Amino acid sequence: MSDRHLPVVQRALCQECLTPYTPGTHFCPKCGAPLSSFATIAPWERIQAERHIFANAASDPRKPITLIGVWLIFGAMLASGLALTIMCFPLQLRNLGVESALIALTGVFLAFIGGFVIVRTTINYLKKKRHAIDTEPGE
Ligand SMILES: [Zn+2]
Repeated sequence: MSDRHLPVVQRALCQECLTPYTPGTHFCPKCGAPLSSFATIAPWERIQAERHIFANAASDPRKPITLIGVWLIFGAMLASGLALTIMCFPLQLRNLGVESALIALTGVFLAFIGGFVIVRTTINYLKKKRHAIDTEPGE
């Protein structure tokens, strides 16, 4: 009675694209999805993990809740960017220094990023929705 089996080689798979990865890897080599808890704790890795989530949401928004979430998060970014820019504008007119110009530039940057992500996600969502309606069978 032998219970000798060949050792089973276990390879972990990425949960998003099913690509095998070596244990200890923090991000999927193919799609960039975070694979370890380290990926969500370490500062730089956490930025990469969040970037992956937002990039997925913007390029492939499948559910209305994703669209709503993007509108909430990036709408707040857009609003605060606009508020910063508008608040610094009168200071600029009175020539109040480099600091207010930097704050205003930061505001323009935030508003641009927020607006860009909202527009891109909404367009992708509407495209996907229209495509789903066009290809619906039996119409
Ligand atoms: Zn992957």
